[in-house]
Amino acid sequence: MQRQDFTIINSQLETEMREAGEIWVNDWWLRSAQAQNALFMIGRKKNDDGTFSIVGDIVTNCDGYVKHSKHQSGCAVDKYFVKNGTIVFNWDKDDEIVAKYQRWHARATELGMKPIVTLSDGSQDMPHFEG
Ligand SMILES: [Zn+2]
Repeated sequence: MQRQDFTIINSQLETEMREAGEIWVNDWWLRSAQAQNALFMIGRKKNDDGTFSIVGDIVTNCDGYVKHSKHQSGCAVDKYFVKNGTIVFNWDKDDEIVAKYQRWHARATELGMKPIVTLSDGSQDMPHFEG
């Protein structure tokens, strides 16, 4: 998907989210390879043989150099819902927020975005919407 197409679909999705009364913030529209790699290293440790071990919670499958993130081409955005005036970064601990992500990812997929990304530790990257 081209960046402009993602912007059009995301705009349609956000119009519907606003009409439904949702409050959220967008984070990480565009990311450099270096910034992507720093996120890739969260929860990972590089072994002497060049492979990686998972040592904590990971946040992305993409290292930014070999495997690119859709954030690096402007075809992804991370959405965080706001609840009681606070951005919910610990969204996976809040069933109401998880339900919002499931609802809006279903709609995003209908509009042409990709389904929820599953990380290599089996968790889902629900704030991430990509084209
Ligand atoms: Zn993302």
